[in-house]
Amino acid sequence: MNMEELKDARTFPQVISDFFSWCGQDAQFCTWGSLDLVELQRNMSFYRMENPLPYPLFYYDVQKLFSLLYEDGKTRRSLKDAVEFLGIRKEAPFHRAFEDTYYTAEIMGLMDWDRVKEYRSVDYFRLPETRNDEIHILFQNYAKYVSRTFRDRETALQDREVLATRCYICGAKTKRLVPWFGVGAKHYYSVSRCPVHGLIKGKIRVKKSVNDRIFIVKTLKRISEDEMQQIRAKNAAAKKKKRYESH
Ligand SMILES: [Zn+2]
Repeated sequence: MNMEELKDARTFPQVISDFFSWCGQDAQFCTWGSLDLVELQRNMSFYRMENPLPYPLFYYDVQKLFSLLYEDGKTRRSLKDAVEFLGIRKEAPFHRAFEDTYYTAEIMGLMDWDRVKEYRSVDYFRLPETRNDEIHILFQNYAKYVSRTFRDRETALQDREVLATRCYICGAKTKRLVPWFGVGAKHYYSVSRCPVHGLIKGKIRVKKSVNDRIFIVKTLKRISEDEMQQIRAKNAAAKKKKRYESH
């Protein structure tokens, strides 16, 4: 957009207030990628607007759902790639808000919703402030935990709840088979065994909040013996690398 187009436009607070009235109370937000709601709230906070969104804010990251349905669940494709993959007619240019919304809706229209509707994402713009508001979500195949924020990574990684590996299905205490170990500075893994539900992989991701603090997203997931061996190998490789670096 150029200045000419923006010259007579209404201001952000006016437009966004209208948008929220249009949404009503029970809107579900669906975005391509995980950044749009963060950016929206960042702008609202810049204008010191009250945030009318529910907390915690769940939304659908359609880019992630696309990957879960058509790829490995991890790859992230551009909107354009997804539109081409699904053979949707490209009538409008990309990277304009209205057109990108249109394409995202078209993609959703073609999705087998029953297969993905469980996979809601959590918005990380507003994070838990105390231990009591920390977020625990149970999915069919895994559990997700979002911590409150911490001063730094070291403090976060000493927190009992961050490191906890109780069974997410039955709540039982588990036996730690592979203790938490880091791969790089942002990812940590562990394997524990529930007496009833077997092997459970823990994965910790260290993330930075909008106000430059640290928070943790931990997932717990049942795995097979083979997957445990892979994590053991990863652990051995990480140890070797550490030894090498310290010499
Ligand atoms: Zn269990």
